[in-house]
Amino acid sequence: MIDLRSDTVTQPTAQMHEAMLHAPVGDDVYGDDPTVNSLEERVASMFGHEAALFTPSGSMANQLAIRELVKPGEEIITESFAHIVRAELGAGAALSGITTRTWPATRGLLRWQDPIELARPDSGPYLVSTTAIAIENTHNFGGGTIQPIEEIAQLRRESLKLGMAMHLDGARIWNAHVESGVSFLEYGKHFDTISVCLSKGLGAPVGSLMISRKEKIASARVWRKRFGGGMRQIGILAAAGHFALDNNILRLKDDHARARSIAKAAHQVAPSTVNPDEVDTNIVVIDLAGSHKSAAEVNAELKAAGILASALGPKFLRLVTHLGLDDQHVAKVNSVLPELLDSAFKLQ
Ligand SMILES: *Cc1c(COP(=O)(O)O)cnc(C)c1O
Repeated sequence: MIDLRSDTVTQPTAQMHEAMLHAPVGDDVYGDDPTVNSLEERVASMFGHEAALFTPSGSMANQLAIRELVKPGEEIITESFAHIVRAELGAGAALSGITTRTWPATRGLLRWQDPIELARPDSGPYLVSTTAIAIENTHNFGGGTIQPIEEIAQLRRESLKLGMAMHLDGARIWNAHVESGVSFLEYGKHFDTISVCLSKGLGAPVGSLMISRKEKIASARVWRKRFGGGMRQIGILAAAGHFALDNNILRLKDDHARARSIAKAAHQVAPSTVNPDEVDTNIVVIDLAGSHKSAAEVNAELKAAGILASALGPKFLRLVTHLGLDDQHVAKVNSVLPELLDSAFKLQ
């Protein structure tokens, strides 16, 4: 099977296993794991922040971060298809009493005016006060969209004037960086809190980090334990993270080139499904609007041909490239997918 459901499906390579095998470890709840400590310091300084906290998932890193920014009964606003509001099962409300409102954006692309027009900071005793804005970069359900740094910078200036904090859901910030050339420090300086994932395109088996100021990380460390995320000899996992940072950032460009080639092959036979120029990184969203097949049907046909993808809506199919693929896999996708799309759009 050629698995394009997500970039989370990768298997650790032999070299990554080797790095894990030799990692010095200790009890991280006591702060004793040297490999975790060095990873936390490394990632914090990559983004120009004081401290970081290793978490078992990106969802936990996001949720620990936003609860440091938003009090119960206040709101965080974000784009309508952001992971925080679509794929974390209402955790902000269920665990932290945080409410949300969203603005819509084509491909999830940020315009700094959208959140500023929606925000209602300091709303007094009548309306919910907006205390934070979350930005997803790259935007997953938007199709791996890179957020323009000028928009982020302008939003930061405007939101500071209004006293609102900013969170970056940077699960795939690595992908944004290699493609845009914008440094991690530049991305980092516009946000109060950041989450990053090692287990997506970077290929580690487990692990994310929350990044922020010392006090916020100290408080998040307490809440991580309260949420059941205090872990022990996890230097084994942090070693995979170090290995991923050392070896797997630059190669993300290959994933991006492969995603674009899949988009081009689809566009050639079914131009309305995807614009290859809008495939910024490693995620290809195929829009089946106007075809007589659903995403689930095309997904089943792909599966029968040995290719796994994700049907994320009635007409919304997602394919994600990653380090487990080679040119032969991509060649097969580029011959099978166009054929299926051609039949999905044929007049009956
Ligand atoms: C994957 C992902 C996360 C975190 O997901 P987990 O499965 O909880 O690790 C957060 N944000 C975005 C945009 C993601 O794609």
